[in-house]
Amino acid sequence: MTLSSARPVLIAGGGPVGLVAALALARQGLEVQVFEADSSVDETPRAATTHPATLELLANLGLIDGILRQGLIARTFQFWDRRSGRMIAEFDHDTLKHDTRYPFVVQCEQHKLARLAIERLRAMPNASVSLSSRVTSIDLCDDRVQITAETGGRTKVAVGSYLIGADGGRSMVRRALGIAFEGYTFPERFLVLTTPFDFAVERNCSFRSFFSDPDEWANLFKVAGNDGRGLWRVLFPTRPGESDEQVFAEISVQERLQKFFPKRGAYQVVHRNLYRVHQRVAASFRKGRAFLAGDAAHVNNPLGGLGLNCGLHDAVELAGLLSTVVRDAAPATALDRYEQRRRPINIEYVQQQTIANKKRLEEKDECARAREFNLLRSTAADPDKHRVFLLRTSLLESMRRKQLPVW
Ligand SMILES: Cc1cc2nc3c(=O)[nH]c(=O)nc-3n(C[C@H](O)[C@H](O)[C@H](O)COP(=O)(O)OP(=O)(O)OC[C@H]3O[C@@H](n4cnc5c(N)ncnc54)[C@H](O)[C@@H]3O)c2cc1C
Repeated sequence: MTLSSARPVLIAGGGPVGLVAALALARQGLEVQVFEADSSVDETPRAATTHPATLELLANLGLIDGILRQGLIARTFQFWDRRSGRMIAEFDHDTLKHDTRYPFVVQCEQHKLARLAIERLRAMPNASVSLSSRVTSIDLCDDRVQITAETGGRTKVAVGSYLIGADGGRSMVRRALGIAFEGYTFPERFLVLTTPFDFAVERNCSFRSFFSDPDEWANLFKVAGNDGRGLWRVLFPTRPGESDEQVFAEISVQERLQKFFPKRGAYQVVHRNLYRVHQRVAASFRKGRAFLAGDAAHVNNPLGGLGLNCGLHDAVELAGLLSTVVRDAAPATALDRYEQRRRPINIEYVQQQTIANKKRLEEKDECARAREFNLLRSTAADPDKHRVFLLRTSLLESMRRKQLPVW
């Protein structure tokens, strides 16, 4: 059923969060219009880790088969001491087999999820996705929201019932609403080097491995790649004062990888990307008829693979609330619930965990390192603690919190 009498929900940003919000709304019969500034889906290497809680949500949206087909199943993840070359602890999602239908992580690049969502939206009469359409202004009224978008040199005005700002970390919507982005930016940047070298065969690494080292920590993970043959991404922090040219120079790329894992011959490096990394949360997730979701509302370091996952949870939860209110099944005040729940969840489960993950990897104090390693070992060795740890890292604990009645 389509609620054709209602004004559409407008979405600024056709990244994974905006597109999943659109799909969740459209499947509930709402009219939805997505405006995406770029002319095509962004393929730069970013999120890949899709946690069990998110797999449950994507299954409800009919996307799970595509994700499983195009991704890699990663049942375990490991912590290593990079200095000694020893594995400290391994965690196995199978411990969650009584908690979820998906006791594993799927390593599926975010551009694949975006493409799957666009494909679905294009087949729905109540949804539209406009590429090369940059939202440039917003006008919030009591009974509607109006936006202006620049499309191929032309200006288009759209009027909707609500607006979702899913336009990424530099969100124009957030700025236009005058909402502060509170937090900080790390001085170092994160370098991602992508190689086909097989760290599972050559070094016994699981598809998600974290390396603690006071000199240079690292995070290693495998993705399927577009041909399904598999690529490994190795993430390092940059050193103080290193310029882009120095970081990207072939000699320094090879040095970094050879120091990480010496091998005969040069590494084949298929991508090299540098990211500025932040821990920031919007002071508010809503102003009147406009909402923020995904990176527009919160950004964090990628250690643990939580940012996009949390953004997708925002998208599905907001879509549920909006459709309930548009159908008059709940009063408009029910929408307050979005910020009341999603903002603390982001702080508690995503900001805190990713900050702790980074600290754990870069810890310089030897006693603190030893304590951390012992804690990881004892947690992995105890089945109950192992399960509790994974319920949190997989965002299932935060999802279960979501099950509480909302009004
Ligand atoms: C190296 C790295 C690894 C990561 N790994 C993980 C991981 O494993 N798991 C995880 O959960 N997260 C991870 N993340 C974080 C994840 O990539 C982001 O959280 C995710 O991209 C957020 O999605 P989004 O749709 O909110 O924003 P984006 O992906 O940034 O999409 C925003 C979209 O809005 C568009 N846009 C911008 N301005 C406008 C405008 N004015 N009008 C219209 N459109 C506009 C942009 O073109 C873009 O397409 C990682 C990030 C990095 C950098």
